Amino acid sequence: MKKHNFSAGPSILPQEVFEKASQAVLNFNNSGLSILEISHRSKDFIAVMEEAQALALELLGLTGKGYQALFLQGGASLEFLRIPYNLMKENGKAAYLDTGTWASGAIKQAKAFGETVVVASSKDDNYNFIPKGYEIPTDIDYFHCTSNNTIFGTQMKEFPKTDAPLVCDMSSDIFSKDIDYSQFSIIYAGAQKNMGPAGTTLVVIKEEILGKTGRNIPAMLDYSQHIAKESMYNTPPVFAVYTSMLTLQWLKNLGGVEAIEKMNETKANLLYKEIDRNPLFKGVAKAEDRSLMNVTFTLNNEEHQPIFDELWKAAGISGLNGHRSVGGYRASIYNAMPLESVQVLVDAMKELENKI
Ligand SMILES: *Cc1c(COP(=O)(O)O)cnc(C)c1O
Repeated sequence: MKKHNFSAGPSILPQEVFEKASQAVLNFNNSGLSILEISHRSKDFIAVMEEAQALALELLGLTGKGYQALFLQGGASLEFLRIPYNLMKENGKAAYLDTGTWASGAIKQAKAFGETVVVASSKDDNYNFIPKGYEIPTDIDYFHCTSNNTIFGTQMKEFPKTDAPLVCDMSSDIFSKDIDYSQFSIIYAGAQKNMGPAGTTLVVIKEEILGKTGRNIPAMLDYSQHIAKESMYNTPPVFAVYTSMLTLQWLKNLGGVEAIEKMNETKANLLYKEIDRNPLFKGVAKAEDRSLMNVTFTLNNEEHQPIFDELWKAAGISGLNGHRSVGGYRASIYNAMPLESVQVLVDAMKELENKI
């Protein structure tokens, strides 16, 4: 039976990427060798790394604009630490917007390095909206925000203006829409939401912001060292980089972020329309801040839960349960999620209404 996987991460990738990645495990580039057994210093793998880096910059519209793309390890969680290490001066100060569990995780790490100002937080409302109208101090080393809040289903539609470097955790919506990516000095994203398998983190850095802290940074935590070694300071996660490259190729062939944005809007509109129309359901996030990637919703009457759960499971849907801190349901509809799968979910919601 066809499965419709709404998992929040690791999550769905395009079917053709699964197929090509599988093939490369058996016989990479007709070499008779597996992608898993060749040297990361081989000509063939260096070509993969270079193409993945070039595609990442190209799809973000950042080619030739002073940015470097790195494929690192440690997840987005290690960037929570690497960012203050590389950007916060001794006795320095950074500002953060607290929009969810991941944002507050980043704040916690920064506190070890210097003064960390939280400009606004939606914590008191269980992060169901994006704070607006806050002021960003001017004497900061950088400002950090989270573009899409995977757990709560909110997404920033606009980014604040500041003279300080703008740093953004885009783990769950990178490459999902056409925005001006050059407003950011650092963009980072764990691959496993919208780009590839778990095991690598894309970090896109405007090179000119580095080297200003006076700190002595351990090599593995130092972005400059990773740039100098072309993302191969140590053995890179070869399979995760290769599979991410395949996904980026798929996206480019589809028409890039501009084309995928339209598809993502169509998918999200279909689902939100049903949430708003169907009297049995309600949305979790405030309407104006709703995410196009993670759609959070609940049943109005908890007694309907066993019936609805049976219906969507019978339709081949998996990964629909909400995060434990929100409850209800969360449909993650990343780039690779086909419209047909969203329709299957909408049909299950309608079926519940007919049954009750
Ligand atoms: C999943 C997620 C993270 C954590 O990523 P890891 O790769 O597990 O460290 C951080 N930020 C956001 C927005 C996420 O969705």
